[in-house]
Amino acid sequence: MTEKSSIDIFSENYRIIEEDICKSAQSVGLSRDDIILLAATKTVPYETINFAIESGIKYIGENRVQEFLSKDNLITKDVHRHFIGHLQSNKVKDIVGKVEMIQSVHSVKLASLIGKLSCEKGITTDILLEVNIGAEENKSGFLKHEIDSAVEEISKIDGICVKGMMTIPPVCEKKTEIIPFFEEMYKLFIDNKCKKIDNVSMEYLSMGMSSDYSEAIKCGSNLVRIGTSLFGKRIY
Ligand SMILES: *Cc1c(COP(=O)(O)O)cnc(C)c1O
Repeated sequence: MTEKSSIDIFSENYRIIEEDICKSAQSVGLSRDDIILLAATKTVPYETINFAIESGIKYIGENRVQEFLSKDNLITKDVHRHFIGHLQSNKVKDIVGKVEMIQSVHSVKLASLIGKLSCEKGITTDILLEVNIGAEENKSGFLKHEIDSAVEEISKIDGICVKGMMTIPPVCEKKTEIIPFFEEMYKLFIDNKCKKIDNVSMEYLSMGMSSDYSEAIKCGSNLVRIGTSLFGKRIY
């Protein structure tokens, strides 16, 4: 018996996920085009990523700098490239200018560094602020009560533009348990969107992964990051 390739798995799953996203969007009065599907491509071979892009994927996200760099030149197709993983300060210089958006900005210090390196290159980098919505000790991200002052402080940094928020909520046994976390995120997002702070455009609320993207969309997410359901189980 031969293993199914990630290309085969993608071909089987992509349309189903597209339909699911469409249905979820419509259930809250939105259309398919209101939601961005970002393919989380960690451990996925570049050939499969190129195939996915040819098939219609417009956004991809890596979560390790080393892996991003090793595949970046091999992804020959036109696509929006995001960074979605934990970013260490010493690696920021390797990706600024190479990704369109850094979704996982978890501290003011990291935002300042991205800003500084972007200015040196004469560019502006779009960022999302990562929120640790479950206040989990082993997770990075701003805590709920820190986010308002963080948005204000980060809005003053040159070289970056705050485009929204992202979160990875706690692992929940039942799908319904995750909904309150998504709802809290939506509230934080809307509260800050309404403030109309200079240099801050709260356009994207990035939440929802393979197991919960439908719930996330129903709670107001407009950017879902999907790996396993598109490409199959990851083997490290
Ligand atoms: C891997 C990853 C995802 C996708 O997770 P799946 O459960 O495989 O869909 C989403 N967001 C981030 C930050 C990731 O690292």
